[in-house]
Order: sequence, then C-alpha cells, then structure tokens
Amino acid sequence: SLSDRLTATLKDLRGKGRLSPADVDATCREIRLALLEADVALPVVRTFIARIKERAKGAEVSAALNPAQQVVKVVNEELVGILGGETRRIQFAKTPPTVIMLAGLQGAGKTTLAGKLAQWLRGQGHTPLLVACDLQRPNAVTQLKVVGERAGVPVFAPHPGATTAGEAEGAGVGDPVAVARAGIEEAKARQHDVVVVDTAGRLGVDEALMQQAADIRDAISPDEVLFVLDAMIGQDAVATADAFRAGVGFTGVVLTKLDGDARGGAALSVREVTGQPILFASTGEKLDDFDVFHPERMASRILGMGDVLTLIEQAEQVFDAKQAEEAATKIGSGELTLEDFLEQMMAIRKMGPIANLLGMLPGAGQMKDAIGQIDEKQLDRVQAIIRGMTPAERANPKIINASRRLRIANGSGVKVSDVNQLVDRFFEARKMMSSMAGRMGLPGARKNQR
Ligand code: GDP
Ligand code: MG
Repeated sequence: SLSDRLTATLKDLRGKGRLSPADVDATCREIRLALLEADVALPVVRTFIARIKERAKGAEVSAALNPAQQVVKVVNEELVGILGGETRRIQFAKTPPTVIMLAGLQGAGKTTLAGKLAQWLRGQGHTPLLVACDLQRPNAVTQLKVVGERAGVPVFAPHPGATTAGEAEGAGVGDPVAVARAGIEEAKARQHDVVVVDTAGRLGVDEALMQQAADIRDAISPDEVLFVLDAMIGQDAVATADAFRAGVGFTGVVLTKLDGDARGGAALSVREVTGQPILFASTGEKLDDFDVFHPERMASRILGMGDVLTLIEQAEQVFDAKQAEEAATKIGSGELTLEDFLEQMMAIRKMGPIANLLGMLPGAGQMKDAIGQIDEKQLDRVQAIIRGMTPAERANPKIINASRRLRIANGSGVKVSDVNQLVDRFFEARKMMSSMAGRMGLPGARKNQR
C-alpha cells in the first residue's frame, strides 16, 4: 500500500547523518512512484514532489530532528496541505433551513450517507429532514426510509404510500425537482433546521443525470452541494469529480468506502484537482462508520506513522538546537557526561511519561509489554542518584570510587548496588552510543573512530 511504501522509503533514511542532494532525489523518486502506484493524479504528484524537493533541500534544518525525521515532517506537512489543511465544517444558513444536496454516481454511497449525515446532525442537536429525490432506482425511496428510520430522522417522500419510483410516478409525483421543492416547504412548515436531499445517480457520467441534478440545484438553491465520491474507483475519481464540477458544481466532497481504499489516491487527488474541500469520510456500511474529515489524521494514516509526528513536534519544542548539536558531538566522541545524561533525561521526561512517548511510535502495538514495564519510579531514582553527585563526579564519572558511591547512595536514599548499576550502565551505554554514532556519521564521531 501507499503507506507501506512511504514508510519503507523513509526508513531507508533513518541511518543517515546528513542528507545529500542525491539522497533527496532518490527519496523523491520513491515517493513519486508510491503516489503514482496509489492512483494519485499526475498533476498532483508533480506539485507535491516539487514542494517536497524544495523544502528538503532548503534551509529548514532543525538540530532537534535527524534527517529522516525532517523529511517525514516535510512530507507530512505537505500531505496535510494537499488534503485541505484544516477541517472544513458545514456552513449553516443564517436563516434555516440549511439545505444540503447530495450528488454523485450511482453506488457512490449517497443514500447511505444521507442516513449517516442525518444521524450525525441529530447528534449535534439539529432537527434534520431527509428528502427522497431519487425516483429512478427501484426501491430508492424505501432505502432512504430505512436509513432514516435507523437514524431516527423523518423522510419526505413523493407520497406517503409510494415505495418505488413506479408508484411515485403513478401518483403523479415523479418529478424530482417538484419533490425537492415540496421537501423544502415541508421542512419550513415543520421547522426542521437542516434538509438533506438525496438524488439519483447513473452508472456513468451522462447528460441527463447532470441536467437533473442541475435542475434540482436551481430549484432549491442549496447551501451546500456535496459531491459523494467512492474512494475505491481509483483513477476514475478525478474525471468523475471534474464532470460533476462542470455539470452541477459542488461546495464540498464526501469520500466514501475509505475502508476499502488501501491506496489513498482519491483522497490525495480530489481536493487539489477540484479545489473543493473534503468535509466528511465514510468508512463502512453502518451509520456510525462516518466522521468529519481530518486532514492531519488522514495524512498520518497514509504515512502509517502512528503519532510519530506529534512526537517530532514535541521534540522540537523541548530540545534547543544548540544543545542537541552539542549532545550529538559528545555522544559521538564518547565524552558524554552524567550531567548531559541528566539534562537529556529531564528534557525527554518534560514531554510526558516515557510510556506515552513510546506508545506514539510506529509498531508500538507489538512493544506493549515492554512499554508497560517502564517504571517511572526507576527513572526518578536514576535522577535522584545523579543529583546526589558532585559536578566533578557528573563530569567525569570515572572518579566515582567506592567511598564516593557510598556517599552518593546515602545522600540519595538508595542502595550502593543501585549506584553501581547506574554507573556501570552509563559506561556501557556511552560506549554503545559512541560506536552507533560512528556508524551513523554523527558529528564528532570520526576523530574517535579512525
Ligand atoms: P447511492 O447509489 O449513491 O445512493 O449509494 P448507496 O448509498 O446505495 O450505497 C451503495 C453501496 O455501497 C451500498 O451497498 C452501501 O452499503 C455501500 N456503502 C456506502 N458507503 C459505504 C462505505 O463507506 N463503506 C463501504 N464498505 N460500503 C459503503
Ligand atoms: Mg441512492
């Protein structure tokens, strides 16, 4: 999937100390392929890659983040941007009722969406009315009545007894434009503050379909026309959206069947291509499988990185750039002191409990047990021990002999064995980090390695 490919590409960067222009190019090539494979529209891919390149090569260097994190950050921000940036809410009319018209191909999920919207609106304290203007498909009216009942929202249909297009037609109320008008009147009379108008679709884009939708639109002047798009139709999404934009026009998009769209291509293309925001997302057949569309959440879903981005943001806030650079140099050259260690530990702990931080990392699910065993009290003890040392001891832990260990243990209220363990582990960790830093090409590492 798109997510897997992007994650793999960005993982390749992880071991790098610095990004060369060639690294940036190679990464962009991979991202480009991943997007194309996910059916993202070509012009969108082009714009996206150009922006990433620009920013990755530019001067946005942050010492708090390693190069891979920087690229992840840039890619994420651009993904959020392409998905619309901020969540766009329904614009309610100043004078009720607010009229929301649904348009889209047959099978896109309009009628299901009508029920979902009705339930969601009701939950927000509104008093919606559903209006059945699909008089083409047999049983379309019944289908809307069923979802309306599930949502606990009344449905206005051609005539009370009509359950099929045929019956409606027979009763002389087969004109969807007239039904739409009557539905709005009904809403006004019964003081419904929102009207959701379900319309007919065809299997493909055709003139008659567009004309009917445009006629309904003209008759009821909706506050919102929502174009309902099946996210699983892949490359066709863009052409379909374009046809509806030209034929009917719309103020927003609802993506349906996102549960089945592993590739994410429609989501990434539609906003950029149509210039209209995505308002809602449907993720299943049940009325609850529905939510307001959140660009940041969709972007992290596509990147498949859990809340790693939140972590990056927090890290940037906590570490000041110079301090991070100094620490990296010290780690590389094996000169890290217990004072540095204490500072780093306190900076990290400022971000919240360690278990929470680790829980945000991708793959955290599999590490649940290990994370559960992290003992904040143990970390408190480590902090207390280091605080019990003199500055000289912190700067040069090698001088901590037996009598000093006893003094530190007494001073910080722990056993001598605790102090021993901390000092031993510190030396071990320092050695390990230094050799790791050498392999990663961190600054300061070289003089020690060769
Ligand atoms: P319409 O022709 O546009 O009114 O589409 P319908 O609302 O009748 O939906 C067509 C089919 O898609 C139905 O079988 C729905 O249950 C199904 N469907 C609608 N939305 C979703 C969704 O978000 N996820 C999945 N998996 N199925 C959906
Ligand atoms: Mg329908």
